[in-house]
Amino acid sequence: DDTVRLSDMAKQMGVKAQDLIKTLFGLGVMATINQSLDFDTASVLAAEFGYEAENVAFDEQEYLLPPEEDSPDSLKPRAPVVTIMGHVDHGKTSLLDAIRKTNVTGGEAGGITQHIGAYHVKTGRGEIVFLDTPGHEAFTTMRKRGAQVTDIVILVVAADDGVMDQTREAVSHAKAAQVPIVVAVNKIDKEGSNPDRVMRELSDLGLVPEAWGGETIFANVSAKQHTGLDELLEMVLLQAEVLQLQANPDKPGRGHVVEAKLDKGRGPVGTVLISEGTIRQSDSFVCGMVHGKIRAMFTDQGQKIQEAGPSTPVEIQGFDTIAEAGDEFVVVADDKVAKRIASIRLGKHRDKELAGKAKVTLESFLASR
Ligand code: GDP
Ligand code: MG
Repeated sequence: DDTVRLSDMAKQMGVKAQDLIKTLFGLGVMATINQSLDFDTASVLAAEFGYEAENVAFDEQEYLLPPEEDSPDSLKPRAPVVTIMGHVDHGKTSLLDAIRKTNVTGGEAGGITQHIGAYHVKTGRGEIVFLDTPGHEAFTTMRKRGAQVTDIVILVVAADDGVMDQTREAVSHAKAAQVPIVVAVNKIDKEGSNPDRVMRELSDLGLVPEAWGGETIFANVSAKQHTGLDELLEMVLLQAEVLQLQANPDKPGRGHVVEAKLDKGRGPVGTVLISEGTIRQSDSFVCGMVHGKIRAMFTDQGQKIQEAGPSTPVEIQGFDTIAEAGDEFVVVADDKVAKRIASIRLGKHRDKELAGKAKVTLESFLASR
């Protein structure tokens, strides 16, 4: 709505709320500190203090593109997004590397794999997107920020070690997020490996293997010897089919930042995983408090592309500053709108920070008495 609170206005103008109230009284308007002033009143009042009021009392929603209903036939299948979790040293990084090496091939002509925080693999049955910042921290950080990008968790358990603390942690995180788990029993090449024990221990945590009448899919793998990887990917796609993952590609794109950094030659860059719609070169966007325009975008193979649809990870150039992992990326009408929304968000953020600081000061003042 187009109103401003008297107390907020006083703060913005750097005058006492009492002075605004007095001035309003002089103008024949009775007001309290919590009063909402309409734009005309605020303008007159501001003018009395030599300020010009700008009508910025708007909601960012007004500036976002209207939400579009996705009709059932606008929804198209999309690839599953997978995060690998598990106890330290059980083989998360090795598994990610092995899958990447065996499935990201020269198929995409001239491509050199880039680390952009996510990559996709092609199998005979379909594509899978992997977030390659393994670990629970990335998963929980994103979730805390309201970004649920993972569709399936691959839980890696070393067959020679069995269920450990971080295995249990991973299970509870995935369960809390209601993300299905596919178990990869790793290191089956090792002497003393005991996949049955892993099945028993995970059953105790409620992950009962299909072979034992449960619903959890298990696959035995060796990340070191690259065995069982195709079967694992097939199991992931099977699980994905059950989830019936879909999105509408025919609307302005949105997604989430999975990684962002400052690149020496290229400025702030960020990897965005598109969740719905399609993003295109030259689109204007907001991303948390950051805004920008897509100057260029690249796949995990380093290929320059012009557009990207649902479940595609792309590295984007054109952020005005560094975004944060978990930030929602939203295409908007134009640059002006992008800047406007980003500045509203920044303003709100600063207000919150100020409020936080003022409170601390007051509390410490009280405490010191
Ligand atoms: P992470 O901490 O979960 O990322 O585990 P890493 O991928 O770093 O692996 C930890 C150690 O286990 C490394 O020394 C790997 O070489 C080894 N490792 C990983 N996968 C296998 C496997 O399938 N078989 C064997 N024998 N060793 C493995
Ligand atoms: Mg690792």
